[in-house]
Amino acid sequence: MDISLTHRLSFKQASLTVLVAFILGTLLSLIQVSLDYANEDASIDREIHSLLEISHNPAARISYNIDAELAQELVLGLLQSPAVMRAEIIDNSGLVLASVGRPPARNRYRIFSDFLFGERRQFEDQLFVSHAPNESLGVLRLEVDTFAFGNDFLRRALLTLVTGFARSLLLSLILLVLFYAMLTKPLVGIIHALSDRDPRRDFAPLPCPAGHDLDEIGTLVSVTNQQLINTHREISQRREAEDRLTQYLGELENIVSARTAELKATNARLIQSNRELEQARSTALEMAQARASFLANMSHEIRTPLNGLLGMLELTLDGSLDAEQRQQLAIAHDSGKVLVDLLNDILDLSKFEAGQLELESIPFDLGALAEDTANLLSQNAGPKVELTCLIDPNLPAQVLGDPTRVRQVISNLLSNALKFTRAGRVDLRVAPSAKGVRILVSDTGIGIPEDAHQRIFQPFLQAGAGITRQFGGTGLGLALTRRLCEAMQGQLQLESREGVGSQFSAELPLPQHTPPLSWPPLHGLVAAFCATGSGLAEQLQSWLPSWGLQFQRLDESASADAIEADLLICANPERLRALRRERQVPLLLVSAYGAFIPSALASELAPLEQLARPLARHALHRALQRLLRQLAATAEPSHAELQQPTRQQARVLLVEDNPVNQMVAKAMLSKLGCEVAVAAHGGEAIGYLEQHPVDLVLMDCNMPVMDGYEATRRIRQSGRWPDLPVIALTANALPDERERCQAAGMNDYLAKPFRREDLANLLDSWLPLTSEP
Ligand code: ADP
Repeated sequence: MDISLTHRLSFKQASLTVLVAFILGTLLSLIQVSLDYANEDASIDREIHSLLEISHNPAARISYNIDAELAQELVLGLLQSPAVMRAEIIDNSGLVLASVGRPPARNRYRIFSDFLFGERRQFEDQLFVSHAPNESLGVLRLEVDTFAFGNDFLRRALLTLVTGFARSLLLSLILLVLFYAMLTKPLVGIIHALSDRDPRRDFAPLPCPAGHDLDEIGTLVSVTNQQLINTHREISQRREAEDRLTQYLGELENIVSARTAELKATNARLIQSNRELEQARSTALEMAQARASFLANMSHEIRTPLNGLLGMLELTLDGSLDAEQRQQLAIAHDSGKVLVDLLNDILDLSKFEAGQLELESIPFDLGALAEDTANLLSQNAGPKVELTCLIDPNLPAQVLGDPTRVRQVISNLLSNALKFTRAGRVDLRVAPSAKGVRILVSDTGIGIPEDAHQRIFQPFLQAGAGITRQFGGTGLGLALTRRLCEAMQGQLQLESREGVGSQFSAELPLPQHTPPLSWPPLHGLVAAFCATGSGLAEQLQSWLPSWGLQFQRLDESASADAIEADLLICANPERLRALRRERQVPLLLVSAYGAFIPSALASELAPLEQLARPLARHALHRALQRLLRQLAATAEPSHAELQQPTRQQARVLLVEDNPVNQMVAKAMLSKLGCEVAVAAHGGEAIGYLEQHPVDLVLMDCNMPVMDGYEATRRIRQSGRWPDLPVIALTANALPDERERCQAAGMNDYLAKPFRREDLANLLDSWLPLTSEP
């Protein structure tokens, strides 16, 4: 590494020292020259004065004597002095006794001398004699050229300055060499040694320049060496750390790549298992779909022959048979019905599992539905069982929900209660509740042991081992009922004690559609012969006051004599005659279907009406209304008033390809008072319609040539029979079937196999009812 001369320390120091020494030398020289100048200036005056002093006496005598010759000699003598330029002696009268002069010396440096000392100086000496010092004899006048003195002075000054400068120069040269040798050279050596080393490889200490071990340079070298050692140590530590870091990074990279490979493998496995799951899911869905349609088809296939079987059995049972044959056929008929119910339960359960159960939300009369169901099941009640239907007077006239499913719930609970109760009461209570409605079925039957309370809601499980043997059943009813309640967002709960009885309570959130019925008011006092804890007493006590009637319960054995009732209700047919003898008030007999009295006796005991148990509100209200009206008119009952309404001879076109089903349906329709025409397929039906007037069409859906959907579409498209009701007959139990029928233009839907009551209900809704003349 080269450092230029002007930047070297030695040069800088030498030049600074020289500058200072030069300035100091110059100042000293100037002071010396100034002192010399002052001295020289004074010496001019001193010398001339001494010259005047020397010449005073001779000049005084010359003036005194007025000796011009001597005067001339004196002034010439004075002119010998190199400095004197003019000398004159003038007497006291102003006469010049002698005067000499010469021109000033010429020289190119005189300008400096003239500047310092002036060009010339004049001196005068008054001449007198010593004994008459106050008497002036004249004047000795000298004019001096200062250059004679100035020239000497200039030469001396120049010498002084030049020697001073030469001294400074010499001094600075000596200093430069010294500084270079002592400072610059060893420093430059250190710099070269430092700049030549490679800090990564060369760790040898710097050499100390000779002779500098103990001075600042030696200290600098040893401090630098110490720093170099530290730096070297730090570098090697860093290098080690770097090596370790690199190694760690390498390991990390390995780990990351191993993990990445593992993750990729897991991901691939996941994708694979997802694919398999997806496949399994779609297979399961397909299987569920296939099972549902298999079940639907199976139910169609099984129901169609069953329909024929049951229909034919019913027809045969209606004919003349001996007792044994009737019993055998009745058993076959009942078994067939059990088979149909079982089939329906299995189908419903499988619909739950396939997630295909769809619930309707339509307005329906829950009270009437409960009464109908109880009425239908009443035939299952044992002779010692009193089945009562207690509808709360505050129950909404219509609620919103799925009537079919609610009927199923009631029917399952009620048929169980009737099945497991040999004697006592079975009550169906329907009342509004905070959440909607509460359906309560209670019985005084065998009860359910505590440990079976959960089990009985599982499919195919029963409360005890001997149940099936003793009572029959498959164990499906409660499982289905609970699922139905839950599907309707409701709850099914059980309270039961073995040997005491059971109570099932279904809490269903069915919102009110129309407010509770307001019954036409009735007036009078009604007395009933019934036991305190009987269902009939509870029922009458609940309803009659809400219709405006007074009610009085009497013991069954009580006498009617003392009673001022407007109407008497009695549950014992055998007591009717006695009652009629005692009182002439209208009578109402409430008994089982089988216990109705013959019509001849009924006319004899008139006014009298008979109602079947369980009592339904509408039937009771109508009967009471009629009987009380007769009482008011005190007229004998008109025959027409008591006549039940009957169906007009309706013309029904039955479109059905299966000959057995044709026969069954035709027989049922005929029994319901209809005139029946039969067509084997849709095309034939349209042909018949074009020729004959028809009130209602029962249309099978699946038929050869033209199926029911197509035939209905054509009937609707033609526009010729806009008001003609077309009712679908189908064994396909899937929920979308109803929509398909509606889309084709059919008005209603009847699932096969159907019972006579189903058909009658359907005709009631689609054909007008009139009373026979
Ligand atoms: P099933 O009656 O066809 O056997 P369910 O699921 O309807 O099937 O009933 C399951 C079981 O619960 C019955 O077998 C019976 O043991 C018991 N059970 C149900 N209801 C009653 C009841 N009201 N009284 C006594 N036991 C009952």
